[in-house]
Amino acid sequence: MFNKGEELLKLCKEQNKKISEIVIEKEMKDSNMSYEELMDKMGKVLDIMKNSATSALDKEVISVSKITGGNAKKMEDYKNKGNTICGDLIISAMAKALSTSEINASMGKIVAAPTAGASGILPSALITVKEKFNLSDKELIHGLFTAAGIGEIVAKNATISGAEGGCQAECGVASSMAAAAIVELVGGDVESSFHAASFALINILGLVCDPIAGLVEFPCALRNASGVINALISADLAIAGVKSLLPFDEVVDAMYKVGKAMPESLRETALGGIAATPTGEEYKRRLL
Ligand code: SF4
Repeated sequence: MFNKGEELLKLCKEQNKKISEIVIEKEMKDSNMSYEELMDKMGKVLDIMKNSATSALDKEVISVSKITGGNAKKMEDYKNKGNTICGDLIISAMAKALSTSEINASMGKIVAAPTAGASGILPSALITVKEKFNLSDKELIHGLFTAAGIGEIVAKNATISGAEGGCQAECGVASSMAAAAIVELVGGDVESSFHAASFALINILGLVCDPIAGLVEFPCALRNASGVINALISADLAIAGVKSLLPFDEVVDAMYKVGKAMPESLRETALGGIAATPTGEEYKRRLL
């Protein structure tokens, strides 16, 4: 039905439908499920996301390796004290993204969106806009389908793997998926969703994958915190009327080429970037 962003955009325009509506129709066809069954299934996904995004806010969740954790609670406490630099919405969004990352690093249940390493971005983005605009769960489920449509296009035409394309392919794509969903959820048009998806990917094009000791913890959680903010600002840029000079499909192609041009040391091998610093090596020695 669609493989490229251009095709999805065309379908939306021809049928005067939102991205989520086209993606849901495609899913109904592919899975042979009814609308109600699909909504029910995605509702369960949303429940897991809500749980992971909030479980580490009021108690310290420490990773299995014990080298990270407790930062979601720190951010939540910081927000609750007031007088933050960035304001409640930004701090709260970062806390929620960190929460899911910490649940992931402690072997809790998360939804890979598109991967476990980048799993904090989409849940936090959706819950943040839900809280600000008082959205219903049904609307958020539709947002998940919008995000899924964007993720599917990237997976088909490029990569969503840090080992293949660096962190731009994980946290970058998660931000891109979230940005498109946010635009739709707050009433933006389909073109604006694609502009937002493009901005989020362009903003961190070239981001390497260099986890300390090869564990999906540091800098992964930080990149989830910044990733959700990337999604929110990309959505705001697009809704304000800022347009991407190039179409989403070309951005995806560029991301793929940049990923392929990255040396292996910067693609989840823990042999480059911050993983290869003296301190990064020391953590590796201690843990392994
Ligand atoms: S640094 Fe690598 S492992 Fe960590 S979130 Fe990014 S892509 Fe995933």
